Parts: sequence; C-alpha cells; structure tokens
Amino acid sequence: MSNRKIPYKIHLSEEETPKAWFNVRADMKTGHRPMLHPATLRPVAAEDLNPVFCRELVRQELNDQDRFIEIPPEVWDFYKMYRPSPLVRAYCLEEALGTPARIYYKYEGGNTSGSHKLNSAIAQAYYAKKQGLIGVTTETGAGQWGTALSMACGYFGLECRVYMVKISEQQKPYRKGVMETYGAKVTPSPSDTTNIGRKILAENPETGGSLGCAISEAVEAAVTTEGFRYVLGSVLNQVLLHQSIIGLEARAALEKYGEYPDVVIGCAGGGSNLGGLMAPYMADRLAGKKAPRFIAVEPASCPSLTRGRFAYDFCDTGMVTPLAKMYTLGAGFMPAPNHAGGLRYHGMSPIISQLYHDGHIDEARAVGQVRVFEAAAMFARIEGILPAPESGHAIRVALDEALKCKETGEKKTILFGLSGTGSYDLAAYMQYNEGSLEDHIPTDEDLEKGFAGLPKVD
Ligand SMILES: *Cc1c(COP(=O)(O)O)cnc(C)c1O
Repeated sequence: MSNRKIPYKIHLSEEETPKAWFNVRADMKTGHRPMLHPATLRPVAAEDLNPVFCRELVRQELNDQDRFIEIPPEVWDFYKMYRPSPLVRAYCLEEALGTPARIYYKYEGGNTSGSHKLNSAIAQAYYAKKQGLIGVTTETGAGQWGTALSMACGYFGLECRVYMVKISEQQKPYRKGVMETYGAKVTPSPSDTTNIGRKILAENPETGGSLGCAISEAVEAAVTTEGFRYVLGSVLNQVLLHQSIIGLEARAALEKYGEYPDVVIGCAGGGSNLGGLMAPYMADRLAGKKAPRFIAVEPASCPSLTRGRFAYDFCDTGMVTPLAKMYTLGAGFMPAPNHAGGLRYHGMSPIISQLYHDGHIDEARAVGQVRVFEAAAMFARIEGILPAPESGHAIRVALDEALKCKETGEKKTILFGLSGTGSYDLAAYMQYNEGSLEDHIPTDEDLEKGFAGLPKVD
C-alpha cells in the first residue's frame, strides 16, 4: 500500500540527528555499586583503570553526573557514513500476523561489521588515537566485536590486536578474513604470546579456548605492551553510553510522526544494544513520566537476568578484570556447547542489572533457541532482512507481543532492536534448517556450580 501516512523507513536529516550521547546513569536514583579492584576488593578509582583502559573512556565509565556527552566531530564524521540506521515500520509483518499492533524496528546490521558494536568501537578507537596510543587489544568470541573494532582501528590508523577464541577462529574463518582485511592482527587464543596463554596451553594443549581466557590474554598484552590499552565491546557503562545513539535516533524518528512506544524490546547479552535503545525512554521512566514497558530477552541456555544472582562477580573467567555488581551466572558458567544463538556472556551490564533490580526494566524473558530461529526465519521471509540469531531473541518476543494484541484487540506500538545481520551465522541457520538445533536449558544444579564460584563479597 502506497498511501500510508507513516513511511516504511523514517528518514532523519542531518539536523534531526542526535549530536550527543545520553548518559542514563545521571538520571538513576540508585546508582549502581562501584566496580571493585580484583586484588584489593576496594572500589576502583581512575588511577586503577588508567593503565588498562584509555583515559577518556575511564572518565566516561565513572561519569554519573553529565546527562549528555557531546559526540566528538571525528566520531560524528564516521557515524555519518552509516548512520542514522534505518527505523522501519514493519507493515508487512503486521499484515502477516494480522495484528492491530504497530511494529517498528531499529536495524543496526547495515554496516560491514554487521552489528551495533561499531557505534562504540569507533568512539573507543577515537579516544585511543587522541591519547596518542599506538594500538588496542581486545578479545572476540563469535567475532562481531573484533570486526567492528578492526574497522574502527583501520579508519583511525591504530594497531588492533584481537585474541579470538580458537574454536571460533576455526569455525568462522570469514570473520577473521574481514578483520585482517582491515589490518587487524588476529591471534587464536590461547596462544603462546602471553604468560597466561602459555600456562593454559601447558595444562591443556588441545583446548579450543574460551572468552574468559581470551580476555585475560588481551588484558595481559595491553598492560605489557608500551602504547597499548585494552578495550571492551559490551557490559561497561561507556559502551551503553555510546550505544544510546540507537535510542536517540529511534526516538527522533518516531517523534516526527507523533509515535511513542508502549513496549520496547531488546535482546540482552552484555546489555549494550538494549541499554542503548531504551536509554532516552528510560529517562521518562526515571522522571516519573509516562514510559514504555521494557522487556529484556535472553537465551534460556544462558539466563543471567531470569535465573542469575545479583552479586559481585568478575567480568572474565581469568579473574583479572574488576568485579562488578550485576546479575550473573558466575564467571565459570559455560552455556551448552550446542548453543548457536549468541548472547552467551555470564553476566549483565551493571546499569541494566540495577534498573532491572529496581523494577525500571519491567520484565526479563528467557526464550529457547528453536523458537528464536523460527521467529528469525519467519522475519527474514516477511521483512527481507536475515537477522543475527541474537536479534532473533528480540524478534521472538516482539512477535509474541503482537500476537497478544491480536487476541485482545489492543493497538499497541511496539519498538524492538534488530541488532545485527545473520550473514555470518549461516552455520547456525543450516543447523536450524536441517532440524538439528535443540534447546538445552541448564538445571538448577548446573547453575549452582556457577554460583558456587562467586567471590565472597557483597
Ligand atoms: C554482540 C551482539 C549482541 C549482544 O551484545 P549486547 O551487548 O547485549 O548488545 C546482540 N546482537 C548482536 C548482533 C551482537 O553482535
């Protein structure tokens, strides 16, 4: 239908595009508990973090005062090449479902790295460059973050060293190919380039590696190499700050047509895309105004919000990073090996955790991967975009909410985050297509093992 008042894709002019990130922490009445130093268990100060992270990023990490932080012109120039990202009215999906709900999604998969992670990667690379650093180190699991960071470092002429979980490096050779094309050095982890890597290899030469081990290697490489710092693609406050661009753009686009969401839905791994999408609407909630219902969606196989503990925990398995108070399954928790749908991080952003704990995020929902892939495949056929399996979690719940509206006749406005493309996840889609994908939901005893490893602090 061509006479629809609201276009399929809402455009923003340069003037309408947000020029500052929004720092939701400034509005939070219960600020989250401070990060603790892993050795002393005392609250970390900037001096503790500066040897590991870039100076300006540490400042942002600890900033709970400034509501808006200006996007530097150099970052803005890069944003302009791929932003604003599309805000799409899912007319075709509404029609296919026969729902009276209005469905919108914000699509972050259109850039080469294929996800929202580029929004923070470019900011982090910029601050590293501005500090006069030579390069940065990081870890990557499935490869989205490593790819985004490689693009950002390629743009600013920084060296980028990525420790990639060995098994992923073997399973996802194309991700490695993209990173190397942008000039990154990709090292399968564990490697013999660090003390911790050599130690792990000596104990277990055949290991396929883990994210925790890759983090430990990347941190060690950063602190032992002159001119290098470590950067991280989710969980941290600074990452949620940069990702607020998603929500600010979505809000600006919807306001042009007088639309305000009744429900905001996002998938939650470390919490950055959900945190970014909901940030400007959360401001309404925290100010006591009318606000949407917020739903965080996580995999049933890695259920940190729905079944985890709100406790201090390490951000990595190697126990080298600061402790954060968050919903966690324990740093030692490993999701089932057949888990194809991403979002396998044991913890959750402290901002998201505190907001959920205080009831400002209304609901967390855990969904099984088979129903996630069903929704993702259906979405691909109807809306044309092949979603990342992670994004499939948000789609699943958006579909369920829209179907509920069909029953009740409610004309709700639903906004969900489509965080990335599934172009690099075809092995998982092929498993789904041939029917070999299964759900593995951890038992309470499985979870107890993870909780048993939680550090004894509160
Ligand atoms: C990394 C990633 C996620 C999960 O990370 P968050 O920090 O929770 O956003 C979700 N979707 C895609 C496409 C990703 O690459």
